[in-house]
Amino acid sequence: MNEMPDLTSPRVLRELLKERSLSPKRQWGQNFLIDANIAHKIAASLEAVPGREAIEIGPGAGALTKTLLDKGYRVLALEIDRGLVSLLEEIFMGNGQIQIRQADVLKVNWQELLQEHSAFNNLPKLISNLPYVISGPFIYSILKEALPFSIVVLMLQKEVAWRLVATPGSPDYGALSVICRYYAYGRVLFEVSSNVFWPKPKVGSAVIQLLPGRRSLAPEEEPLFRAIVQGVFQQRRKTIFNNLARLFPDLRDQIDSFCSASGITPTSRPEELDVEQFAKLSRIIYNIHQ
Ligand code: SAM
Repeated sequence: MNEMPDLTSPRVLRELLKERSLSPKRQWGQNFLIDANIAHKIAASLEAVPGREAIEIGPGAGALTKTLLDKGYRVLALEIDRGLVSLLEEIFMGNGQIQIRQADVLKVNWQELLQEHSAFNNLPKLISNLPYVISGPFIYSILKEALPFSIVVLMLQKEVAWRLVATPGSPDYGALSVICRYYAYGRVLFEVSSNVFWPKPKVGSAVIQLLPGRRSLAPEEEPLFRAIVQGVFQQRRKTIFNNLARLFPDLRDQIDSFCSASGITPTSRPEELDVEQFAKLSRIIYNIHQ
């Protein structure tokens, strides 16, 4: 491509796709960003920490990618749609600052990818206008890898964003909030109207920032922590005692003492517990299970 097309113009996007017999695919959450100011604002959010190496998930037709490159980032872009990979290769042909790979990010092994990717001298930043269809599983997958990035900035469905940063006692608080708080310091940076996407999605969006947190458990204790958190929130109306008795029937007689050692009232509900109470409880049960 000789000249850089305007990647935030719906008319240009429609033409670029049509010329290649492509169209926005709903199963891959293809809602393209059509507002250059928002693209700039999202990319600028990465600047909370130093560094100019970024991984972008789902570059689509490249609106955010171009903004990152303009800001001097070296970018590894991972896109599932082969048609869009070819389009991106054409758009950014000859630009040595970008690598485009066809990949399903739900199947990426982050440790391997980061090791094999020699361009990264430091932990890269992660950025995405995330496809809504994969936001929950994707965020969970990077959290359980202990967030191997210096900063993560994601645009996602508004409800999921608020759920991630919810605090105990709020109706949004759930397993994802506890697990997110354990691995990261998260905050919602700003909300985004659905008018800045083509095609326009039915839901509103928000941009969140995640910074790796200080983890209080040993790595080998963490799978049990995640299992307990996910297990008890499956029945969030039941007491912690009843939930634990269901999850660990052989430990039933000891549940009261586990709770008191973790500062938990056995009759409380999962949504009343904070992350450190879950962590203490998990460590005690982990030690007994050894
Ligand atoms: N970044 C572009 C933008 O802001 O205009 C496109 C964002 S669009 C919401 C989501 C993008 O993620 C699409 O390009 C879609 O093909 C891609 N995608 C969907 N599922 C994916 C997956 N599992 N792995 C990698 N990319 C995926």
